Amino acid sequence: MHKKKPLLSLCLTRVRNHPTILPHNQTIDQNTMHREPTADWKNSLKNSITSLNELSELLNIERQHINADENATTNFPLRVSREYISRIDSANPNDPLLLQILPQAQELNNAPNYYHDPVGDLAANPLPGLLHKYHGRVLLITSGGCAINCRYCFRRHFSYADNIPGKQGWSAILNYIAADSTIEEVIFSGGDPLIINDKELQVLIEDLENIAHVSRIRIHTRLPIIIPSRITPNLVSILANTRLDSSIVIHCNHPNEIDTSVSQALKLFQSTKTALLNQSVLLKNINNHAETLIQLNKKLFSCGVLPYYLHILDKVSGAQHFDVNEKEALELMQQLRIKLPGYLVPKLVREDSGAPYKTAIS
Ligand SMILES: *Cc1c(COP(=O)(O)O)cnc(C)c1O
Ligand code: SF4
Repeated sequence: MHKKKPLLSLCLTRVRNHPTILPHNQTIDQNTMHREPTADWKNSLKNSITSLNELSELLNIERQHINADENATTNFPLRVSREYISRIDSANPNDPLLLQILPQAQELNNAPNYYHDPVGDLAANPLPGLLHKYHGRVLLITSGGCAINCRYCFRRHFSYADNIPGKQGWSAILNYIAADSTIEEVIFSGGDPLIINDKELQVLIEDLENIAHVSRIRIHTRLPIIIPSRITPNLVSILANTRLDSSIVIHCNHPNEIDTSVSQALKLFQSTKTALLNQSVLLKNINNHAETLIQLNKKLFSCGVLPYYLHILDKVSGAQHFDVNEKEALELMQQLRIKLPGYLVPKLVREDSGAPYKTAIS
């Protein structure tokens, strides 16, 4: 069953009107905000593609030749940046980037063993905006929007509406973290946490800096790939100047996702101690080829990014056509181990609801 909820339009409105989980003492002065020149990345976000007609126009393919189904957008809209589209080969109907964003009829099949909450998020959601599943780290739903709607997204049915904490909610989250001295690491996730302004991000970080037992922050984001201009020198310096050790885990699935603008953006972190890692989802017809994964990890390394996780697809309803079974995944891993230095081989993992960590498959 699909919820009848226009997820993204809802989220983006929310992102715009209620700048996420601003702490109690912080107000955004809309007038000041409007006087500031709009950053490139915000324009890119605003100019995102959200209709199949626009997509076909940009790709220069007639609408009827795009293998898309409008009905699949009802619950989970099309959304993608122009930057990402520019890396699609429009002569290839099975382009691996296109397949990640194209709403297709298969999404409407109700496959057995695929769920709305495939990884048990709801059971680990003690406060709106906070997921606490694993020892030592908590995950914050820092925003309800993304700059792309990946069709296989494991949170494609997640109720962001119930998980935007607001100002009071942010105080509650801070109190929760302060009261549990086992929490050393705070992960900003979402949605995409980099969809919020640097200023808001900085305030969140400063509040966390005040909790002595928090020593690390981590940002899970796909924005460096989708809108590379989001990596501003200011963002880099915010992370360089906090007392917290920082890491950014980007999400990149295919070497074609990395062009010069992406690699230049990532290289802005080169002189800092922010660790750059990548997680990918193993996706049928997109990256389930050893050579693709080998090229991906080599290319990422040349941008200063080390592999972290290669995820088996979470069993989220609507995404069953992307699934690669574990036997095939293990065979691919064997090829990667043969061809790559050990440090360029990602960890193959699966997320099991209720497990105390991501389950390694080897
Ligand atoms: C994946 C995940 C994490 C991070 O797990 P690591 O193994 O540390 O990368 C933390 N919290 C939640 C809720 C997660 O889903
Ligand atoms: S970037 Fe991540 S959270 Fe956003 S739609 Fe893609 S998979 Fe989902």
